[in-house]
Amino acid sequence: MSIENGCLISLDGSVLHWHSPVGRSSVYLPDSRNLWDIIWENRNNLYGFAHSHPGSGVGLGPSWEDITTFSAIEIGLGKRLVWPIINRDHVVLVKYSGPKKYHYDVESAPEEFLCQDNTRNWISKLRHLSYCDQDIEEIIIKKDELSPDKIRELGDQGKRVIIVNEHGKTMIEYGPYNMPDDYSDFYPDFEEQFSKKGN
Ligand SMILES: [Zn+2]
Repeated sequence: MSIENGCLISLDGSVLHWHSPVGRSSVYLPDSRNLWDIIWENRNNLYGFAHSHPGSGVGLGPSWEDITTFSAIEIGLGKRLVWPIINRDHVVLVKYSGPKKYHYDVESAPEEFLCQDNTRNWISKLRHLSYCDQDIEEIIIKKDELSPDKIRELGDQGKRVIIVNEHGKTMIEYGPYNMPDDYSDFYPDFEEQFSKKGN
């Protein structure tokens, strides 16, 4: 699961966190916060974690590494989650079935799951992120040109934001979707350029 794109999903189906660990050419990983920390912080509002696999067609299912990761996370949390996996045209839901530690069931996602607005939304964003990398529009900006809120908005629209310094050198890349809540980890003086909420 380590190199795949994914998202953490709340009980109402909205995305709590985008996990997109490969920071392309950036020396700063956009996702420097540990996924486990975010899972733990949101433990009372978790539906599950979805991730993408390459390709298309039926026969979609978890890898052995996926299963051992799901199990370790659930044991750490003390509760069971749902682990959707998507490819270009299918979605399956992976859930613990027991009784053994690594007994997980894989079922095609039911229609009532797929037609929820929040679910449709993250599926389409996750597919965009996973399969359309070359089509993702890049916005290159100087660090003091846009507020954090504006940058977040561009990320939510599926764009990749590349912040450069005055010499045009890349300082950070964000997005699409995996926009940080707090920029200070990556860019200590960034928030100081703007009012606290970026207004
Ligand atoms: Zn996987």
